[in-house]
Amino acid sequence: MFIEIESLKPEPFHVRHIFPAGEIQFSHEDAVLKEPVNTDFTLDHKDRDLHIAGTVETAIRFICSRCIKEFNKDISAEFDLSYMPQPEWSEENVEVELKYKDMEVAFYDGIAFDVNMMVLEQIELAMPMKFVCREDCKGLCYQCGADLNEGMCSCSSDKGDSRLSVLLDFMKKMDK
Ligand SMILES: [Zn+2]
Ligand SMILES: [Zn+2]
Repeated sequence: MFIEIESLKPEPFHVRHIFPAGEIQFSHEDAVLKEPVNTDFTLDHKDRDLHIAGTVETAIRFICSRCIKEFNKDISAEFDLSYMPQPEWSEENVEVELKYKDMEVAFYDGIAFDVNMMVLEQIELAMPMKFVCREDCKGLCYQCGADLNEGMCSCSSDKGDSRLSVLLDFMKKMDK
């Protein structure tokens, strides 16, 4: 979805759009967009300088990095962004670019604004740092591959018990 700047009226422009899953070019090894992406935003502009504020909502199916089970997580982002046309390269404009970097202004071609790109960026920013089905996911046994969330497997419990009993013996001795 592109917004042609030429066609914008002076008034703020309200967009409510649902992208079907697959329309946003989301690519991750262990996460997929399964749900449509809802976006709702208002675009204000002063000539070709844009101000866009709104929300993005969707759900992502992740693969847990510990137990490799799939899980869904709702993703939502609120944004308030400024875009301006990419200045043509010149020494003077490099200074302009540096100045705007501090102000969190992004650039676009000044002709058509790529909504999909913005939506994708917002989804990426809202993604969790680590993909775990829950904070206390115990993961898989590195020996037999059993899911430790469903209970201890025999390899881990054997070792755990013996180590624990040695420790208990030791503590008993210390008591004496
Ligand atoms: Zn997990
Ligand atoms: Zn095991």
